[in-house]
Amino acid sequence: MNKQLFSLIEKLATEHRLALAEYEFLIENRTVEAAKLLAEYAVGVRKKIYGNTVFIRGLIEVSNICKNDCLYCGIRRSNSNCQRYYLTSEEILERCQEGYELGFRTFVLQGGENGYYEDDLLCELLTAIKAVYSDCAVTLSLGERSKESYQKLHDAGADRYLLRHETADAVHYGKLHPKELSFEERIRCLHDLKEIGYQVGCGFMVGSPYQTSAHLAKDLEFIEKFKPDMCGIGPFIPQKDTPFGQESAGTVELTCFLLSIIRLIRPNVLLPATTALGTIDSFGREKGILSGANVVMPNLSPASVRRKYLLYDNKVSDGAESAQCVEELVRRMKSIGYEIVSSRGDIKRI
Ligand code: SAH
Repeated sequence: MNKQLFSLIEKLATEHRLALAEYEFLIENRTVEAAKLLAEYAVGVRKKIYGNTVFIRGLIEVSNICKNDCLYCGIRRSNSNCQRYYLTSEEILERCQEGYELGFRTFVLQGGENGYYEDDLLCELLTAIKAVYSDCAVTLSLGERSKESYQKLHDAGADRYLLRHETADAVHYGKLHPKELSFEERIRCLHDLKEIGYQVGCGFMVGSPYQTSAHLAKDLEFIEKFKPDMCGIGPFIPQKDTPFGQESAGTVELTCFLLSIIRLIRPNVLLPATTALGTIDSFGREKGILSGANVVMPNLSPASVRRKYLLYDNKVSDGAESAQCVEELVRRMKSIGYEIVSSRGDIKRI
């Protein structure tokens, strides 16, 4: 292997950080051999902390109604081909009930940004979930809100919050989002969430339009500095009714390479093998786990809405991607030497 590449991987594995230019070099000059070595280190680090366990989360897609117009996203406000829905608190509680019976101890409530889920409704819902499922964690992924709102939701029982930063480069951010949205506001939200005491997740898409290795290097540096508890990364996948409908998708190869790097930067991070990864490759989840990921998030939404939460084309929601088929997921993980566990799956502080 190229000597410089080899020494950068050794450095990352021991120091858990690289300089910005070094991250870029690593990405730009990556080889199959380098990916293999990185994955070996990443899996080693992950096994030391989490053994061979994989945590599961029940993903409830609460609504595809969104006031935002993100250029990549299939549920953007301007997409008139999207059939809109929202789930009521009763429907969400029903999903938790089924999820609980299937062994899930974390529920993730994800959705577009809309006025339906205002603070009072969400606080009541959180209180109700926590009253019945006191041994479960609740993760919210409902976009940008005020600090006061985040505080109220945390007080009502929300444990974790996922808000991908999407890209750590402000100019690139501007190319993926409408002008009403700003990188600064996104980062403000992430810092507020952390200050309040949530377990916080950031993340980005791999291969999004206009993305360069220099941008990805900035994403990695951002993760190194922000120290998230969770990090969601997955390939960008075009959705035909969006302005990026004709762009090409990100790759499994680069996503897995970055998963390994992120595991080495943050050894204890909760790192999902995402649905997007499972969508572009039928062994995407397995490949993600074998690169250092330790979480999977099967779909727990009602069957009637699954085809409507179409962030991107051909999004999978059945088979091992479906919470109801958790047995298939158990089998698939077992086949690569991993064990699904039924627990909250909090971050291990080291
Ligand atoms: N409204 C919430 C949830 C957004 S959907 C929020 O703002 O956080 C969750 C994630 O899906 C997004 O953060 C984005 O990174 C990802 N996503 C959206 N469109 C996508 C696409 N076309 N391909 C891949 N991932 C996409």
